Amino acid sequence: MKAVIYQGPKDVAVKDVPDATVERPTDILVRITTTNICGSDLHMYEGRTSMETGRSLGHENLGEVVEIGSGVDRVKVGDRVVLPFNISCGFCANCEAGNTSYCLTNQPAEGKGGAAYGFAEMGDYAGGQAELLRVPYGDSNALILGEDAEEKENDYVMLSDIFPTGFHATELAGLHPGESVVIYGAGSVGLMAALSASLRGAAKIIVVDRQPDRLRLAEEIGAITVDDSQNDPVQFVLDQTDGMGADRGCECVGYQAHDHAGHEDPATTLNQLIESVKFTGGIGSVGIFLPADPGAKDEDAGAGRLHLDYGLSWFKGQSIASGQAPVKRYNRQLRDLIAADRAKPSWIVSHELSLDDAARAYRHFDDREDGWTKVLLKPDRG
Ligand SMILES: [Zn+2]
Ligand SMILES: [Zn+2]
Repeated sequence: MKAVIYQGPKDVAVKDVPDATVERPTDILVRITTTNICGSDLHMYEGRTSMETGRSLGHENLGEVVEIGSGVDRVKVGDRVVLPFNISCGFCANCEAGNTSYCLTNQPAEGKGGAAYGFAEMGDYAGGQAELLRVPYGDSNALILGEDAEEKENDYVMLSDIFPTGFHATELAGLHPGESVVIYGAGSVGLMAALSASLRGAAKIIVVDRQPDRLRLAEEIGAITVDDSQNDPVQFVLDQTDGMGADRGCECVGYQAHDHAGHEDPATTLNQLIESVKFTGGIGSVGIFLPADPGAKDEDAGAGRLHLDYGLSWFKGQSIASGQAPVKRYNRQLRDLIAADRAKPSWIVSHELSLDDAARAYRHFDDREDGWTKVLLKPDRG
């Protein structure tokens, strides 16, 4: 089968690899029909993680079940399924508590939690930017779609990661109806946080970014936007909130954040959030931060140590919550919002390409080229 293989910094290629198979009785095998390139793939693509060369990428996966293991009860061959990027077991202490993003069964390293397809530090699972994907614990991991699965495939594939992750950002921030929220980052997760904030009844949604195409998408769903290369986003938020700061804030950029002058500093957006969220407000941080960054500009950043304005945050009595989204906590309800035409996350899709176009797609997406907001790969189109 074909798969997108990481060969080193800024180098991916579509290669022939052995077919994925059912390896354990609880596995299912999925023929991938849509698999997205994610902003977090770019951290790996740029060589800013410990991702091993020769591994396949792809954690935002949707397809058709083509084989099931002998221990699979619920999922049937022919089902259309979307897979959470988290590979969870459903029975460990963390999964039982709903924290499927920190599953203890599928992470091979002692004392660590969390597993994912084609992802650094999350086990050696193959990615889904491929023709076939092995899904462990298929009964637990696969979310089965309805009769509109193909018609709304570009919407449902967002349930694999970015829609639940954006929703999780608003949940971690503690967003209630009628409140204001500022979202730093209008990449695909930030845009999904804006959509989620709208679904949750936020009165005012402010989105900070500097890419005109992304800001336009945020405006299309009713957000107020600010270009932080031209304006001070903190002052903008204060002006929009009677000087008080937003009730809630979401960090959707992660450790490769840049200040207004374009200098990289991983604490940039978190410090802006601390300043632009009100006293006693809540901050949800879902952009990726890692304990090691091989491409960092200095020693502290290389070890994931941030120069955080914690004193100001503590003084303001803010809550900061963080981490990878437990997709299963949200994907069923978000699926039903899509089915009911109450949410259309595919509005951010800019490109539908064949798997063979992956290298070109990674290059354009990584260069933040205007108009490359979300790329979907369709392995059944070559
Ligand atoms: Zn993703
Ligand atoms: Zn588990």
